[in-house]
Amino acid sequence: MKVLKFGGSSIKDASVMKRVAEILNAYTEPTIVVLSATGGTTDMLLQAIQMASEGKMDDALAVKQALEDKHFSIMQAFGLEVNEALHQKIADYLAKLEIFLIGINYIREATPRTCDAVIAHGELISTTIFNAYLRSLDKKSHWFDVRQVMRTDNQFGSASVMKNELKRLTHDQLIPLLQKYDIIVTQGFIGSTADGLTTTLGRGGSDYSAALLGNAMNADEIEIWTDVSGVMTADPNIVKDAFTQHDLSFQEAAELAFFGAKVLHPSTLLPAMERDIPVIVKNTFDPENPGTVITAKSQRPGICKAISAKGKTMILTVESTRMLLAYGFLEKIFEVFARYKVAVDLVSTSEISVSLTIHKKQFTQEIVDDLSQFSNVKISDDMAIIALVGDNIKTNINFLNRVFTALTGITIEMITFGTSNVNLSLVIPESQMVTCVERLHNKFFKNNNG
Ligand code: ADP
Ligand code: ASP
Ligand code: MG
Repeated sequence: MKVLKFGGSSIKDASVMKRVAEILNAYTEPTIVVLSATGGTTDMLLQAIQMASEGKMDDALAVKQALEDKHFSIMQAFGLEVNEALHQKIADYLAKLEIFLIGINYIREATPRTCDAVIAHGELISTTIFNAYLRSLDKKSHWFDVRQVMRTDNQFGSASVMKNELKRLTHDQLIPLLQKYDIIVTQGFIGSTADGLTTTLGRGGSDYSAALLGNAMNADEIEIWTDVSGVMTADPNIVKDAFTQHDLSFQEAAELAFFGAKVLHPSTLLPAMERDIPVIVKNTFDPENPGTVITAKSQRPGICKAISAKGKTMILTVESTRMLLAYGFLEKIFEVFARYKVAVDLVSTSEISVSLTIHKKQFTQEIVDDLSQFSNVKISDDMAIIALVGDNIKTNINFLNRVFTALTGITIEMITFGTSNVNLSLVIPESQMVTCVERLHNKFFKNNNG
């Protein structure tokens, strides 16, 4: 059994959805097809929420109308407008969406819980239409509401999945369906609390959903179908001559995803790694391309495999001469970040100070106030993290030399080696991010030799 995930750009209109159906023809084993919302839909839903919460109801309804037009035109292109049951289902979702928007407009507020209930409609609608299309092609396909199995906590907007519950529910409810159907079409990104409230796993979370389902069902393979031919040596939007790395280890791919390679949601690799399930990243627009195969051990060594970058970063430097050589200093610092549920990306320490990076959107003044109780805090804003990923980075003497030559003249604010020996992270001003990635890419990949 395989789990295949198709992202928003892979199902953005009828012609691409048709490609996806053709891709599915090649599979002889049972498949779980995990879909995102159609391209741009989640953003539109968030926009409508924003408008309604500001009292701009006409604008919110115009967005809702645009979503309606977009999805009805897909149904029309498939000749599905005559399918009354489908028509009714989509009309019901859209009616519900309108009721939510009216409610938000009345209250002038949208809590994360309300947002999740609204934006889940993107995935519910895309999967409903795609399943009806497959059925119209006489495929033995079945629509499944993933909220029946994707049990989460109530951290709306970025819920955590209860993996044991997921496993139990999948065995009870999803695996038996594979006896009856060849294809199960279900939603990425969304889940549900035990008392039935809709949650989401964070933006771009459909990759993670696919990996979680693959883990729960012990799939043979997890395939992530997107709009590029696999994981590339850099973001192709930044570096024009970036090219596909056909083979990566779980560790390497996880570091790249964590440090900004949007092609994979940062949490995707862990569930695959746990059960040693290969993850293949493929291009819906070029299915013949082998893409990237991610497994426990990469077959092709290379001192630098890829470079990723993540902006919107802040450095917090926490300094305390009083704490010089005192034990418990680090614990006190991390306790503050834990209290505010803020994830720290990178850490570097000296005798009397600790520098940490966090994502800008997680910053609050309360963190600084709490840290200031026992230290001085210095903030450096508008930073970016550049991560270089490859084999035995730490032990390769040539590697650092090449990095520093490439970055001559750039102020490097922080530098850390990952413990896994596959990653070097540098923190530089965000204004230099593109230049740094380009220069490093040039240095390591100019002759395709990593
Ligand atoms: P999907 O809608 O299929 O989930 P995403 O837009 O989330 O697709 O991810 C694919 C995009 O990730 C690519 O179009 C590319 O712009 C971006 N990207 C960033 N870094 C990389 C990388 N190292 N390799 C490939 N794509 C990357
Ligand atoms: N539709 C969701 C988003 O846009 C999830 C995803 O695409 O993976 O974030
Ligand atoms: Mg994505």
